[in-house]
Amino acid sequence: MDARPTAATAPAERPVPRFEDLPEYRQIRMQELAGELTQIGNPFYRMHDVGAGAQTEIDGRRVANFASYDYLGANQHPAVHARVREAIDRYGISASASRLVAGERPAHRELEESLAACYGVEAAVVFVSGYLTNVTVLGTLLGPEDLVIHDEFIHNSALAGIKLSGAARRFFRHNDTAHLEELLVDFTGKFRRILVVVEGIYSMDGDVADLPRLVDLRARYGFWLMVDEAHALGVLGAGGHGTHEHFGVDPTKVDIWMGTLSKTTSSCGGYVAGSAALATVLKGSAGGFIYSVGLPPALAAGAVASLELLAAEPDRVARLRRNGHLFLDLAREAGLDTGLSEGHSVVPVLVGDSLRAVRLSNDLLAAGINVLPIIHPAVPEGQARLRFFITSEHTQEQIRETVEKTAELLGALVRDNFGLNSIDR
Ligand code: PMP
Repeated sequence: MDARPTAATAPAERPVPRFEDLPEYRQIRMQELAGELTQIGNPFYRMHDVGAGAQTEIDGRRVANFASYDYLGANQHPAVHARVREAIDRYGISASASRLVAGERPAHRELEESLAACYGVEAAVVFVSGYLTNVTVLGTLLGPEDLVIHDEFIHNSALAGIKLSGAARRFFRHNDTAHLEELLVDFTGKFRRILVVVEGIYSMDGDVADLPRLVDLRARYGFWLMVDEAHALGVLGAGGHGTHEHFGVDPTKVDIWMGTLSKTTSSCGGYVAGSAALATVLKGSAGGFIYSVGLPPALAAGAVASLELLAAEPDRVARLRRNGHLFLDLAREAGLDTGLSEGHSVVPVLVGDSLRAVRLSNDLLAAGINVLPIIHPAVPEGQARLRFFITSEHTQEQIRETVEKTAELLGALVRDNFGLNSIDR
């Protein structure tokens, strides 16, 4: 006999699940309580009173800022602002519809043409968010018959896209192309298609994918190659065109160039650049394109203006490179652990446990430097770090002072038993 309740026999009331009972809620509250008990201030959600570039203002105080990814200083550039204002005057704030139906504006086309030219490929498609781009592109191009092999450090958004697609998934050890090849030997021919996903510059570690080797493997094993350029556009290569320019690799040997508009192009949104056929598939079948509003025209115009700034002033890229290398060299000289960073846009300083990273971030803010801790689960436990975003607009003086202060305050925390002695119990 079927014991399930029917509409007639169901109880009159049944409690609705409470969000407060979710393990996620409990864990976050525990962390907040631990912070309150130990009187360690929360470094997250700090309020900035101005547009944060190489400097910012927090609690009415001007501080050096190493926590924004405005790599080339475009976010406060008058030429970029002027183009955004013009676009708002003409098109308003929103595209007010999906591009497919009534949301298409000239700035979308202009931006896609600029991005395709920047990568030296046939076409590009822009989406309303970088995160969404990875989710919808991977979710659209792959299915349960496919396999994704990815670097173990790829961004959460790519993992979400892989999950959505239902494809099988394997990862290779970070930047270890020999391990990738072992997996390719095992799996080639066993799936409908294989996609390999890497990042140009890794967002937490600041090292660069071995693109020449990946392209060589692609030719031998016949897989699609996808490179997330979020932290590489405007950073790598003399003209800031990214990882392919850095290595002098033919950009058409990468099937899917993906990136975000929120970093070098000081806007919001994401993009894919590649063949015309890829763009056709995505514009015709990616849910995150078809069923989502078009990128606000002003944000598209701002991104176009930022790309023009990149083309007109390549010295910004050279300054960023000098600053990144200076930061890395000084940090190493000071005995700081910069992990795998190659000194481009991202330089982490590894400090060990999460508590120490949080304390160091707070101590640095008190000393006039804003930099954020990256803690578990964003990185493995024991590998907590401060992540310094370097920009072309930082002065050498700011960099010197920041490295000196970081070494000094970290040294004090270590002597102080990792910050535990001074917790007011
Ligand atoms: N990919 C990488 C490698 C990222 O670091 C990020 C975010 N920082 C994204 C994708 C998502 O981009 P957005 O923040 O512009 O949505």
